Amino acid sequence: MNTLTLDIVTPNGSVYKQDNVEIVVLQTTAGEMGVMHGHIPTVAPLRIGHIKVKCNGQSDYIAVTEGFAEIRQEKVNILVQSAESAEDIDLERAKSAKQRATFYLDGDKEDTDLKRAERALKRAENRIEVAKFK
Ligand code: ATP
Repeated sequence: MNTLTLDIVTPNGSVYKQDNVEIVVLQTTAGEMGVMHGHIPTVAPLRIGHIKVKCNGQSDYIAVTEGFAEIRQEKVNILVQSAESAEDIDLERAKSAKQRATFYLDGDKEDTDLKRAERALKRAENRIEVAKFK
């Protein structure tokens, strides 16, 4: 079976690199997308969510923030602001971030950058969900 190489890159460099990937499931802004070897080359915008990587009979889950997937026939490059494997997620940190964001959103909204707080809440909730795949 032909496989893919997956590379997840953030401003801090490559945070996840895997060969022999059977399928990568991406959460794009248009919905879920499964990518296997030989996929038509394209670029897909990603939403805050997770990337599922099936490889050697097991699945890895990586929490990602917004970004892009560059899909080539033999390789998928993911470019995102941040990415953490399920086992690297600090659950307490994510819960604190969620609490902070909720506090801002529930409070006096005049001084608050609502969009920023909403995105922080989504990131935190996503990390809490992905941590369940540890
Ligand atoms: P926080 O308020 O806790 O910093 P955040 O959503 O603002 O959360 P980001 O700006 O998305 O954090 O990420 C900053 C850096 O911290 C990135 O390198 C990211 O991978 C890492 N990071 C953020 N939250 C966690 C977490 N809960 N567990 C592990 N790493 C995290």
